[in-house]
Amino acid sequence: MTQLPVLNLSGNATATTSDGRRPTLPPRHLADLDLAGRRAAVADLGEPAFRAGQVSAHYFGRLVRDAEAMTDLPARTRAAITEALLPPLLEPVSELATDNGATRKTLWRLHDGSLVESVLMGYPDRVTVCVSSQAGCGMACPFCATGQAGLTRNLSTAEIVDQVVWFAGLAARGALPGCPDRLSRVVFMGMGEPLANYNRVIAAVRRLTEPAPEGLGLSQRHITVSTVGLVPAMRRLTQEGLSVTLALSLHAPDDDLRDTLVPVNQRWKVAEVLDAAFEYAARTGRRVSIEYAMIRDVNDHPWRADLLGRLLSGRLAHVNLIPLNPTPGSKWDASPKPVEREFVRRLRAAGVPTTVRDTRGREIDGACGQLAASGGGKVGEREGGLLARRANEETQ
Ligand code: SF4
Repeated sequence: MTQLPVLNLSGNATATTSDGRRPTLPPRHLADLDLAGRRAAVADLGEPAFRAGQVSAHYFGRLVRDAEAMTDLPARTRAAITEALLPPLLEPVSELATDNGATRKTLWRLHDGSLVESVLMGYPDRVTVCVSSQAGCGMACPFCATGQAGLTRNLSTAEIVDQVVWFAGLAARGALPGCPDRLSRVVFMGMGEPLANYNRVIAAVRRLTEPAPEGLGLSQRHITVSTVGLVPAMRRLTQEGLSVTLALSLHAPDDDLRDTLVPVNQRWKVAEVLDAAFEYAARTGRRVSIEYAMIRDVNDHPWRADLLGRLLSGRLAHVNLIPLNPTPGSKWDASPKPVEREFVRRLRAAGVPTTVRDTRGREIDGACGQLAASGGGKVGEREGGLLARRANEETQ
């Protein structure tokens, strides 16, 4: 009998932080608050309400994260503003860069010692950041490096937003050669299951998409939220009135296999998960992205391609096949290219738009399923290599 992995839907930590501490949420930050909340916070400091707009315009409009650099604030207030609204959230521990610096993976230490990673990807026409929404992950997908360590904790809204603002500032300073200087896209495909940290992720989406000084002013259509299929949360997302792209990590079209590959399937089966995804597509008019890691001799059989084709035919969905990235000590391997091509052929024959994701970047563990916060070298140590394009937005 197959032993099924145990998953953690409770959101309670199963792991301690990198230095053995109990995980705790960080102090409040302005990105946790809407503008009214920020006004109340500066009022508590005895400052005029317009100060909240000033600080917000620096943070979201000019991508300045340090109050000491906000030179139009009276010098006497900067320390108090830092403490009340701009506590440091992310400490970069290491950064790996490749593609001549256009692609970067950063490992952050959070205030309690938790470790998370983000990946920045520069293209000639756009700049995308892949953010983490949790430290670790409780979903226990057996082929995923992040899933092996369990959940440390949910990230706060501001910890998510600050990953984006940090990279947006980097892009604005012209750090990505041959790429636009404006970060335009965000994918929630880093560490964690975004919909398991629902309220904070949705608040982060709102903060990222509200116009400055309220937020960063990105287009909702340029935000992708992924999920392994937490059906109640998917249905809740459908009611939010947002037009973000939903990416469903399916990885198997049949319950027998998906129960093992994506343990949350023990709770919500393929039919129910797809139903929730199609409902989201119908409500928003946004094509759902079906993510499917191609794993040799596990889920890459022609009959599974045909079954997936039947499930998706005629639906507002496309398939994004992901050649599996190796993780240390894993028994899982990528499907051979001819097998992958046949899988694509069968899906397309069923009328399902299908693309294969670029797998560059394996060598710096920046590719999908490789974000495990295990540390790494300094910027430039591995320059010249190639890093995965984790985003699927090129197919949108
Ligand atoms: S694949 Fe995603 S949901 Fe599954 S364990 Fe990894 S990070 Fe979590």
